[in-house]
Amino acid sequence: MDQTAAPPPSPLHVPCTHCGATNRVPVTRLGEAPNCGRCGKPLLQGQVLELSDANFDAAMAATALPVLVDFWAPWCGPCRAMAPAFAQAAGQLAGKALLVKVNSDDNPALSARFAVLPTLVRLQGGQERARQSGALPAGAIVALATG
Ligand SMILES: [Zn+2]
Repeated sequence: MDQTAAPPPSPLHVPCTHCGATNRVPVTRLGEAPNCGRCGKPLLQGQVLELSDANFDAAMAATALPVLVDFWAPWCGPCRAMAPAFAQAAGQLAGKALLVKVNSDDNPALSARFAVLPTLVRLQGGQERARQSGALPAGAIVALATG
């Protein structure tokens, strides 16, 4: 038994936009335009996909489309406010790009890999003057702080 083998990627749970049935789709079939098991209509046409630490890499390997990932969190008001626009964009991008959501609270590995933390913001009189994401050496921190 190979102790180093990664567990198989978690299947996607995709709600059908036509009949509402939830379909379990192997993430490796992402690029094959699967159909709904109940009504036979196409799944994943312009839908936002919810991915996780457990299936993200397999999903990326299965699609040749450009992928835009929305890292969001349930406590993030602007994240929730953007969700309808994100879903609308996904519909407009059907077949052209894949729009993906990752809950950053539930998926620490992906969040760490693509994180925008730490982010440093320089303020002057309460107004934002500059911002830089990613870890910085002391010299760059000094330069950012003094503008
Ligand atoms: Zn269906």
